[in-house]
Amino acid sequence: MKTISSLLNEDWYNRYKRISKLNIRSSIYDVNNRCNLRCKGCFFFSSDEDKVADEERDLTRWEAFIDKEKARGVNLAILIGGEPSLSLDRVDAFYQRIPTFCATNGLIKVPRDRFPDLMVGISLWGTEEDEIQLRGRDTFAISSKNYAGDAYTYYLYTITPRQIGKTEGIVRKIRDIGVKVHMQLLSNDEDVDGFSWQPEELIDIRAEMDDMLDRYPDTVISSKYYHKIITTGKMLGRPFGWNECPSVTESFDNRDPQPKRLIHFVRWASDLTTTHRCCTSETRDCRTCKDGAAHMSWVMVNKRAHMRSAEDFQNWIEVYEMFAKLYRFIPW
Ligand code: SF4
Ligand code: SF4
Repeated sequence: MKTISSLLNEDWYNRYKRISKLNIRSSIYDVNNRCNLRCKGCFFFSSDEDKVADEERDLTRWEAFIDKEKARGVNLAILIGGEPSLSLDRVDAFYQRIPTFCATNGLIKVPRDRFPDLMVGISLWGTEEDEIQLRGRDTFAISSKNYAGDAYTYYLYTITPRQIGKTEGIVRKIRDIGVKVHMQLLSNDEDVDGFSWQPEELIDIRAEMDDMLDRYPDTVISSKYYHKIITTGKMLGRPFGWNECPSVTESFDNRDPQPKRLIHFVRWASDLTTTHRCCTSETRDCRTCKDGAAHMSWVMVNKRAHMRSAEDFQNWIEVYEMFAKLYRFIPW
């Protein structure tokens, strides 16, 4: 295998040094089992993950649990739900203890006087029409007012096949309110007609995502290698799926041989005892999984495999930087 210094010039080496010290250890937490929306294709509700555990309502138990998570080595708590903004005391318990990221639909503003630098990712599923069709309302109309100009917020734009040709309009309206955007692809867990990806659509959307990154580099947080990985489902010739997925909860991981994986990763249900199989839907077929975080983590845990050429290793650095920016381990 080649050495890192033989693969990189000084600029790339400095970029590598900046991320090589981060040692990110993330886990995911269902803050509650409730939401103020019911989106078609929501992985949480479509797989009945809201029914597998009763919410822990005693805040002191949350605090003790988070202290144990910190002692276990977690240095990035990713809060999902349900909708975390419906349980701000629990969000606060994390925020006081561990670097915390809060995924939200943006309808309720996380108050900045209480959470001045909490990292927030707002879900967005497309144009007004698509949002109304899939989520029942135009969430951007509200979330954009709540978070315009917010330096600790980005939109997590879930692209559906219907978005081909429309992504620029979305990126521009996010740019115009002074917020960043990251893109991922819908997995269509509820088989909504017309929202499953066809091979030619994945080719088209990859080109469009690349174009958005080229034309809006100050707004789009992404990398072309990430676009390639999520649209082809392949990395270095290997197909994504259960045998390769890095985001499997440790206690569910009976794979032999063990692939490279996120160290001590767990996705906890809101009773603080039950765990879910992975970072996304319990019932999703891994062969159709397009989960963006799982794909970027897949690249990140396979560092050595990318050390076969300068281009491969630079791709690895770019994906790692993208992840580190999204969770504010390094500046945008
Ligand atoms: S806002 Fe998020 S958690 Fe709520 S229903 Fe939609 S996808 Fe699910
Ligand atoms: S559904 Fe996706 S994230 Fe979950 S185990 Fe399968 S490949 Fe991994």
